Amino acid sequence: MNRSNASSSSVESGQLRPTAAAAKAREPMNVLIVGVGGQGVIMVSKALASLAQSKGFEVKQSEVHGMAKRGGTVFSHVRFGPQVWSPTIPKGEADILVALEWAEGLRWLSYLKPDTGIFICDTKRIVPPFACLNRRPGAPLRYSRETPAEVKQHVAEGYAIDATQMAEELGNERAANVVLIGALSTALDFPPEDWEKALSQFVPKKTIAVNLEAFRLGRGWINEARTRVGVATVPAEAVPASMEAGYSVRLEITQQWCKSCDICVKLCPERCLRLNEERVVELAQPEKCTGCRLCELLCPDFAIRVHLDTAVPTQGAQA
Ligand code: SF4
Ligand code: SF4
Repeated sequence: MNRSNASSSSVESGQLRPTAAAAKAREPMNVLIVGVGGQGVIMVSKALASLAQSKGFEVKQSEVHGMAKRGGTVFSHVRFGPQVWSPTIPKGEADILVALEWAEGLRWLSYLKPDTGIFICDTKRIVPPFACLNRRPGAPLRYSRETPAEVKQHVAEGYAIDATQMAEELGNERAANVVLIGALSTALDFPPEDWEKALSQFVPKKTIAVNLEAFRLGRGWINEARTRVGVATVPAEAVPASMEAGYSVRLEITQQWCKSCDICVKLCPERCLRLNEERVVELAQPEKCTGCRLCELLCPDFAIRVHLDTAVPTQGAQA
């Protein structure tokens, strides 16, 4: 597999790392998992909670996933240890922050322990419609502009990983969350085979094989990243590009999934969609499309995907 697009933002060595064993001895272990609807945040937290429970820890888990299928914020707190009183992690107390989306990861950084917190973040960008306030096609988006190198200044240990791309290369984009579980697994003391057993309970049976592969990929990637401490340079294409640079929009329409409901046609702010003679949606005026993603978020049949291809990526960051 070509892993050239995966990137490590930074790795600080020689520091105290939170482990399940440490949780046994003292405070609860606090793991915060964040992302947007549809990415599988809840599955990640369920797998972790179930594994911790199977090891005899007291586990508390709380989650918010009101917009789970429409691109809204989803987060889950998982706490485990000898005794856990509260289900929520206070600000500045998370041992590990796992983010399935780049901007969501940055939004929750204040929850990490400043001295020892580990940040594991997919560089996947899901740009919300309100980021397209300027309706000129290709205009700058209001999306976070920080690069992994900049984020490095604010975390004790951080990894920016192109988990979505890695999962796509395995043939199942939805396994990106499991790539991140693989990465997360390296920060806790549970044996890999126990992680795999826990994971297998929470993914569809027919996808167990690909998910296990994704898990091993994420785990291997972090271990490799640690050996590159101090010498690795992040490939420029792996860094979430600054949205100041402008972008071009590409709509991917899965025709066989379109049920001709007309919702996207009616609600596209730019009126650039239409139903063709077969009553299947098509992009009639591509030059007007701003990439706001409303059509993608509103389609009940997931028939539209909006890709924002950044024209000029920012330069790479050094680990
Ligand atoms: S919202 Fe989805 S199903 Fe409805 S017309 Fe648009 S693409 Fe087709
Ligand atoms: S086609 Fe979709 S992404 Fe483009 S402007 Fe319309 S709703 Fe937004």
